[in-house]
Amino acid sequence: MKDQGTYQPYSYYQLMETSLRELLVEKGIVTDDAVNAEVTAMRGRQPERGSKAVARAWVDDAFRQRLLKNGTAACEELGLEIPALKLVVVENTPQVHNAIVCTLCSCYPRVLLGIPPDWYKSRNYRSRMVREPRAVLAEFGLKIADAVQIRVHDSTADMRYMVLPMRPKGTEDWDEARLAAIVSRDSMIGVAIPKVG
Ligand code: FE
Repeated sequence: MKDQGTYQPYSYYQLMETSLRELLVEKGIVTDDAVNAEVTAMRGRQPERGSKAVARAWVDDAFRQRLLKNGTAACEELGLEIPALKLVVVENTPQVHNAIVCTLCSCYPRVLLGIPPDWYKSRNYRSRMVREPRAVLAEFGLKIADAVQIRVHDSTADMRYMVLPMRPKGTEDWDEARLAAIVSRDSMIGVAIPKVG
């Protein structure tokens, strides 16, 4: 837990985290260094990890199928280690648009997308995304045609979702790196779509 400058009593969850961590260190199950290294790695993760997986899926159809079948294993093929959680990749099609949310708290595919944006954790997004996704997406500037079905996936502590957006037209001769550059964080949450230019 970071020193907060002036004294403030710990919140319930801070106290839980500190107590559990200190107990695990004391019992020799983890070390302080290992915890710090993981926190640093987590903070350093950027959405580029997810973009890399999406771009690969766009250029390699066999990889795309593996990614949809078992997101965890497919990402590990790319050298993206996925700690003990099930990663489910959901594919946008002309008929179905997917978006992710955690209605309970802020579960998010951090391992691929880094730290979630503040709005993802907001009560507004969490509650409205499941009730009126079309309206929420419109507020993000994403108009989904009425004929397209919207599927909203509720993440949990051990199951995380990531959206595989559709490859935009006009990118047929692009290489993987160029494709990855247009795959935004928001497009992998499902509140945006990749745009060319
Ligand atoms: Fe959560």
